[in-house]
Amino acid sequence: MTTVFQLATRLKNKEISSLDLVESYLQTIQKKNSQINAFIHMDECAIKAQAKDIDEKRVRGESLPFLAGIPVSIKDNICTENMPTTCASKMLENFIPPYQATVVQRMFDHGIIPFGKTNMDEFAMGTSTESSYWGKTYNPRNLSYVPGGSSGGSAAAVAAKMTPLALGTDTGGSIRQPASFCGIVGLKPTYGRVSRYGAIAFASSFDQIGPMANTVEDVALLMNVICGYDIKDSTSILKEPTDFTRHLKDNIKGKRIGLIRECFGDELQEDVRKCVLQATKAYEKLGVIVEEVSIEGFEFGLPAYFILSSAEASSNLARYDGIKYGHCASHEESLSERYRKTRAEGFGSEVKRRIMFGTYVLSAGHYDVYYEKAQRIRQFILNGVQRVLDSYDILLTPTCPIASFPVEINATRVKQQDETDIYTVLANLCGLPAISIPCGYSQDGVPIGMQLIGKAFEESTVLNIAYQYENREQE
Ligand code: GLN
Repeated sequence: MTTVFQLATRLKNKEISSLDLVESYLQTIQKKNSQINAFIHMDECAIKAQAKDIDEKRVRGESLPFLAGIPVSIKDNICTENMPTTCASKMLENFIPPYQATVVQRMFDHGIIPFGKTNMDEFAMGTSTESSYWGKTYNPRNLSYVPGGSSGGSAAAVAAKMTPLALGTDTGGSIRQPASFCGIVGLKPTYGRVSRYGAIAFASSFDQIGPMANTVEDVALLMNVICGYDIKDSTSILKEPTDFTRHLKDNIKGKRIGLIRECFGDELQEDVRKCVLQATKAYEKLGVIVEEVSIEGFEFGLPAYFILSSAEASSNLARYDGIKYGHCASHEESLSERYRKTRAEGFGSEVKRRIMFGTYVLSAGHYDVYYEKAQRIRQFILNGVQRVLDSYDILLTPTCPIASFPVEINATRVKQQDETDIYTVLANLCGLPAISIPCGYSQDGVPIGMQLIGKAFEESTVLNIAYQYENREQE
């Protein structure tokens, strides 16, 4: 496999051109996308024109950023000027944003080529990329299995080598879980590290944009481009620019990993348990100290996440009234009837479920029982995690209790799906950086991932510890 680092080096040395590169990925898409359905919009002419432009600049001898000429695919809830951004919803079926998300602008400034929009669960609510208005995405590792979600299109595109890099968003696990299901690497940065300006809001106090790639180093390279303070996002944090590749190769001997005990309960599939415990042995061989730790209140994390994220979603999605944005029901007698019909037609069933649940937990009489209590739980869990992180460099868990599952739905599956986020929501509740990296295969032959959760703004440590596992010597 050719890494992004290698591709960028070849581009720099003029051994290949950006046009050749995008054309070869476009060919792969041509071959595979009809089966996988990872891409939902693609402007080939614009892509080729941008690639040519970069090639010409290089021939003229202009000095270009390292990733100039590399294609990066973008989840369809990140605004791209002059390109559809639909959140995989009928509601935004025809929406073309009049502005660029900050991350996309930063990529342009680095000469990166926006390489199509990827499929997702509607409004990023889901774990399997089956609720898209544009149809399901399939897992390239086994086409009858789901790719995970909600950034399933991005994960599948990277895993199928239809793109070298992709952006996803992660509110409760939507970068890490599909990364784990498709056998790639996905990082959710610290809350505030990457601008959310132009990322269509699901739950604003949880959402983060992050990179997805085949290797840890490639994830670090894209982090270098997308991170940074943004005056347009009031939650963006002012930090010195970091080179996230700098510490990848640092020796990790003596580092301390806390294995979260609560993530090894009965819900954990046996083959996942086995792979993750083997990975901890590999860390011990690298001289890392691995100890069990306990997070107080861990079991309340998932319910608190669903209460808070649905509450925020119900408020964020109130803007889709058929007047300012998107789909609009026609010929209605009154304004309220128009609102009702627009929303009934425009949203799918999972989105409606979250809006109703969120509205309920925020309503008078229920607010203090649900919303306020969940806020207190969030703070309680954060305090507990911080206490543990005072004595450890990183926390380790399986990314998900299960590996990818077949596409058809049954009753156990619905329950399983609700529980898929049980280990990933912790990092979102606490705003911490977390990565998923591949660590083996299930009995069904689909990939398994493990999760590393770091201290706030210590992505470099997370990447270093992930890199050392990925590049360890294997017997
Ligand atoms: N699966 C989770 C949910 O549906 C997380 C989604 C996400 O991270 N966008 O809420």
